[in-house]
Amino acid sequence: MKEYLLQHFDERKTNISMLVLHATAHKGIEAAHCLDNLKLSAHYLLSVDGELIKLVDEKYRAWHAGVSYWRGIDHDLNSCSVGIEICSPSLGQESFTRIQVQKLIPLCQKIIRTYDISAQNVVGHSDIAPLRKPDPGMAFPWEVLAKEGIGLWYQTEDAKKIQCDDIAELLRIIGYDTRTPDAVSASAYAFCRRYLPQYVKKDADVYHLVDNILPDNFDFMKENNFLNVLRAVAYAYQK
Ligand SMILES: [Zn+2]
Repeated sequence: MKEYLLQHFDERKTNISMLVLHATAHKGIEAAHCLDNLKLSAHYLLSVDGELIKLVDEKYRAWHAGVSYWRGIDHDLNSCSVGIEICSPSLGQESFTRIQVQKLIPLCQKIIRTYDISAQNVVGHSDIAPLRKPDPGMAFPWEVLAKEGIGLWYQTEDAKKIQCDDIAELLRIIGYDTRTPDAVSASAYAFCRRYLPQYVKKDADVYHLVDNILPDNFDFMKENNFLNVLRAVAYAYQK
């Protein structure tokens, strides 16, 4: 694997228990320069043409998650996670390349195996920072990855196994931040980016998208389909 070692990282304060997947709106190595300029980092970068580049050794704490929350952990998710940046000029709104998916699968499998990361703890940046981040985006192949043992997908028929119809509670069961009404709305939208991309608005301007990750209004939360899929996913996560 090619190396392009970044300089912004430090010592981990906890053991690794999470895998965080990102998208970056670059095609290749320039994404690493960009992270470096912003005093950020990740452990790996995967270019549009499938080149895998090591940026920070896994034993160190890379700086990629920022202010984040998942399953009750509300600070320093960098310490407990491995971060992978995947190049996507549309910032994950258009399909990732076939070679990217082929390269990503064994990398994720190896990380999950090495650190015994639970399926519940394989997340996208938007899952852990729903008010701030839209990546890895609505086109990220979560279902394909789940079939390879990377993260969780759902069975539609499991929806009826959970009686709850409280959206915030179902999101909380999965792991999302539901501590404020704004966080609940943003988490519901992040949930759609991953499980119901048909409810997510595309934005041709990725810079506009980054600054406006939530639409001004949305009504998908009233849809039966949303509640059913949310229930089915919550069932998968609580098993
Ligand atoms: Zn990210």
